Amino acid sequence: MKIHEYQAKRLFRQFGIPAPTGSICKTQKDITRHLKQMQMPVVVKAQILAGGRGKGGGVILARTMAKAQKSAETILGMQLITKQTGDAGTTVKTILLEQGVSLAKELYLSMLVDREHEDIVIIASRSGGMDIETVARENPDHIIKVHINPLLGLQSYQVRELIAGLELSPLLAGEFTEILKKLYTLFTHYDCSLVEINPLGITKEDTIIALDAKMDLDSNSLFRHPDILAMYDSDEEDALETAASAHGLNYIRLNGTIGSMVNGAGLAMATMDLIKQAGVEPANFLDVGGGADAEMVENGFRIIVSDTNVRAIFINIFGGILRCDILAEGVVAAAGKMELSLPVIVRMEGTNVEQGRRILAESHLNLINAENLKHAAELLAAI
Ligand code: GDP
Ligand code: MN
Repeated sequence: MKIHEYQAKRLFRQFGIPAPTGSICKTQKDITRHLKQMQMPVVVKAQILAGGRGKGGGVILARTMAKAQKSAETILGMQLITKQTGDAGTTVKTILLEQGVSLAKELYLSMLVDREHEDIVIIASRSGGMDIETVARENPDHIIKVHINPLLGLQSYQVRELIAGLELSPLLAGEFTEILKKLYTLFTHYDCSLVEINPLGITKEDTIIALDAKMDLDSNSLFRHPDILAMYDSDEEDALETAASAHGLNYIRLNGTIGSMVNGAGLAMATMDLIKQAGVEPANFLDVGGGADAEMVENGFRIIVSDTNVRAIFINIFGGILRCDILAEGVVAAAGKMELSLPVIVRMEGTNVEQGRRILAESHLNLINAENLKHAAELLAAI
């Protein structure tokens, strides 16, 4: 789960990592009220869960009150398009007003889980402020990577390697060391998959300060971080995905027209392949889980049909823990209650499959029985 820049900076400050203080505005009134108490220059920053805001016009450094007021009014409510938002962009519902800092230099610093090396990698560069992919392409020698064994933690020689690579003066080395240690503590404490500071600013007064903050946490760890869970911004997530997650369903929305309901993630992936091979596109990934009951089937149905792109539904279930007759009863009950008019193709295999098929056949609903996967593919191709 990603959190906003202002939330990440709050955590930074709690852990002793310097970050500018700022004010959050959600209305024009907030803007006027907060700006009155600020010194110029002020940085106006759109709070969305995507990077590249600066280039998209979502970050403006204002040197006068009038410019700050105007920039804030423009950014709040704008449809911000960055290379990470897609063409539709994201509506800016919150902005951050920060005291501007006079920069002497911009560095890049990030920590992330490296799955290949099975460790935590620290990436740093003296070419901060621009995106790291560009630095990697144009100045690969400006990038330093240090792999940390999570059992041993950050070692002094690794800190020195980073200081040397960043060409930091002895004056800044001590301060950088402190920041690095605190950032590593924060990273492991919050089960992060990524923390990125770009830029990590060096001010004209020779202090180091985090001017940007991106944090992504492993969602599986949220049960032990209630403070982070409270930061969940449902505005930034797909409404259907949020609803599905509230019902304990693993649902991911896609762009196609065939809704699918499957038990087991592996079977769900194979089902999406089957849909594509039949020449149509999946509208979603939905794993109702191995132990789904009639209620979950009904909730799944409701979520699938809430997507107005859906033209047909494909139910592909292997009856193991969830018996085929129970599933069939759930499907019939849900389809009947919802007065479902879309065609529903059902392929079932496993425990009590004969009873299940009978229940479907006797239901008089628009349910089409697929004898096997090949037959299901043919039915899908005909839609
Ligand atoms: P991003 O584009 O989403 O990564 O947003 P950032 O928070 O990184 O802001 C974009 C750029 O604005 C940074 O790379 C900095 O160059 C600049 N910037 C942000 N805050 C300040 C500041 O306080 N002072 C100065 N001089 N520049 C800033
Ligand atoms: Mn940035």
